[in-house]
Amino acid sequence: MSKIIVLTGAPGAGKGTQARLLQERLGLPQISTGDILRARARRGDPLGREIRAVQDSGKLASNDLVGRVVRERTAEADCRNGYVLDGFPRTTVQAEMLERLAAEQGNQITAIVIDMPREVLEKRLRGRLMCPVCGEIYNIYFQPPKVDSVCDFHPQSRLIQRTDDTPEKIRVRLQTYDQQTQPLLAYYQKTGRLKRIEGTQEPEEIYTELRRIVTGA
Ligand SMILES: [Zn+2]
Repeated sequence: MSKIIVLTGAPGAGKGTQARLLQERLGLPQISTGDILRARARRGDPLGREIRAVQDSGKLASNDLVGRVVRERTAEADCRNGYVLDGFPRTTVQAEMLERLAAEQGNQITAIVIDMPREVLEKRLRGRLMCPVCGEIYNIYFQPPKVDSVCDFHPQSRLIQRTDDTPEKIRVRLQTYDQQTQPLLAYYQKTGRLKRIEGTQEPEEIYTELRRIVTGA
């Protein structure tokens, strides 16, 4: 039986970084719905435009939309020994979709939440910048580039703020996260499958705890 790791935490809590470490070091593919949806939105077809409109409004994609994308992606061969979900499920309805998917795949679900105080989250999100060439994420407060406003790997290209990182959209996203995700955390808590990690630790310390939970070692 393989593991499905549901990695949760508010936007800005660093779950994307941790998912990437699990992929690099334990070989568990990172299924980031944010990445998948963003990539899909860049295609100009009707589905791409539908996703783009949702993202521009600062709201979250519908259960149906995300569910379709996740089911398709986790059917691929690299997910056979388990995978890490980043950004899915976000609601109890999506959690129930995942129970069915896990049962079909013969997988076991473990949920992990990275906890972080609200004021730290807002500051992190306000300071986030991305390289338009390679997608590397920097943070002017927590993880600045070597030279102001330019990527360490692409000195000729200026870093940009993602369209969903403006103050108003940040507020909407954190509110939406609270409203929708608290019931989800309660859902996994109730079934004894929720683990909590303190998110104000250094990324390597967070990873160490995460690895222990994932490998059971
Ligand atoms: Zn770059």
